Amino acid sequence: MNEIPNCPSCKGENTYFDGSLYVCPDCAHEFNPESVTADATPDVPRDSNGAELADGDAVTVIKDLKVKGSSMV
Ligand SMILES: [Zn+2]
Repeated sequence: MNEIPNCPSCKGENTYFDGSLYVCPDCAHEFNPESVTADATPDVPRDSNGAELADGDAVTVIKDLKVKGSSMV
């Protein structure tokens, strides 16, 4: 028996499988179950040089490119 996830948009429980996508009849939202179950792959930042930073040194902050979880509208 297949478990159908609730609608990620309205949390409705009346979702059904429509061949390739799950469909929510409550808000007409269609979603892919794979997009709901986001991969939690940690992004490990690499440091090319292991130089220690001394106090007072100018530090360049490189922002991480964070992959947001699926936020389909
Ligand atoms: Zn819905």
